[in-house]
Amino acid sequence: MKFVQPPLPYAPDALSDAISPVTIDYHYGKHEKAYIDNLNRLIEGTKYADMPLERIIVESDGALFNNASQAWNHIFYFFQFSPKGLKMPGGALMERIEKDFGSFEEFQKKFEEAGVGVFGSGWVWLANDADGKLEIIKASNAENPLCMNLNPLLVFDVWEHAYYLDYQNRRADYLHRLWDIVDWSVIESRYPF
Ligand code: MN
Repeated sequence: MKFVQPPLPYAPDALSDAISPVTIDYHYGKHEKAYIDNLNRLIEGTKYADMPLERIIVESDGALFNNASQAWNHIFYFFQFSPKGLKMPGGALMERIEKDFGSFEEFQKKFEEAGVGVFGSGWVWLANDADGKLEIIKASNAENPLCMNLNPLLVFDVWEHAYYLDYQNRRADYLHRLWDIVDWSVIESRYPF
């Protein structure tokens, strides 16, 4: 089974408050596409050929893990944004954010700090455990909470390719601006409580 790169659910210039169309062109159009192309090439004729992507991530290592996880991570990243999404969570997710982090503002601050603190290439994740408890995870390279038995909810990409064209070395500014385009209705739909 070949994996197909899903089209973006918005126009390439729709996120320009935080991510320019040029970055979308490279990041979605070249980086995400390359991970999916590599994934398809690596699984061809192997036991992974008919596995769902989530299972490949948990069962593989090396180049296959890197490309499978990066394919999944990028699809997950681009689908959480919208030019006119829900600006704050509500319901069970908001209650849990307040319980685990004190307030929504405090959570945002801790999430940005964690993203700044990832050394080198990686991701900062919000994920939940089986009891619904939330956790911020600093991840290197292609690391994904699925491998830690956690459910991923939100992710900011801190590889330099995600922000260098727009923000150069100002990773903290990039992370702060991403809140303007996160659609919390998508994140709520990923929280099964
Ligand atoms: Mn990326």
